[in-house]
Amino acid sequence: MIPDWASERSAMVARQLRARGIRDPRVLRAMGEVPREEFVPDELRLLSYRDEPLMIGRGQTISQPFMTALMAECLELEGPETVLEVGAGSGYHAAVLGLLAKKAITVEIVPALAKLAERNLAKTGRLGNIRVVAGDGSAGCPEYAPFQAISVAAGAPDVPGALVDQLCEGGRLVIPVGPLSDQSLLVVTKRRGGNTETRTAGHCRFVPLRGEEGWR
Ligand code: SAH
Repeated sequence: MIPDWASERSAMVARQLRARGIRDPRVLRAMGEVPREEFVPDELRLLSYRDEPLMIGRGQTISQPFMTALMAECLELEGPETVLEVGAGSGYHAAVLGLLAKKAITVEIVPALAKLAERNLAKTGRLGNIRVVAGDGSAGCPEYAPFQAISVAAGAPDVPGALVDQLCEGGRLVIPVGPLSDQSLLVVTKRRGGNTETRTAGHCRFVPLRGEEGWR
């Protein structure tokens, strides 16, 4: 029997997001719209709306729905922004960002996953305002900078300076920072004049950010 994806999706939004404090109506709507089952490998499809991360190949994961929603909410997107995502993976999170902002650029260091993200975004008709770039995003993506928002989907040892540099004044960066075993989800806001303010939005465990400004 084919699952009723739409009702699984709305149950996920109600039980995993709304009930746990995700409030931004645009985030809740976007999470209720993107077909997560199209971004999950065939053999795990039945688990698409589980409250957990899932393996997508090459040792990488698609984040738990709550984490995708929390990170998106932390960016406080209103619609006109250009957003950078580091770590495209399956392309799911980028699809959510594409609904929340004017344009999303997502960078992926594993070439096969960059292709997977592009394929998943194409088959769900979401490539219109999303660009998948294959490469190391730990130092950002200078050709598309600056960004009003940056979302990093892999754990970093520190906040990469290049990402702060590529953030507009008033912009926000959300990034897991800390040891490989567990990280703090940091939200860095760049104030006028370039000073930054940082708060912690929670604890998390992400796959490592590799590359020039990641774990070597
Ligand atoms: N956002 C994804 C989940 C990403 S998992 C989704 O919704 O499916 C983290 C991803 O970051 C992995 O695919 C990993 O290959 C990628 N990654 C790790 N270091 C990177 C780097 N320096 N630049 C770009 N991508 C990176």
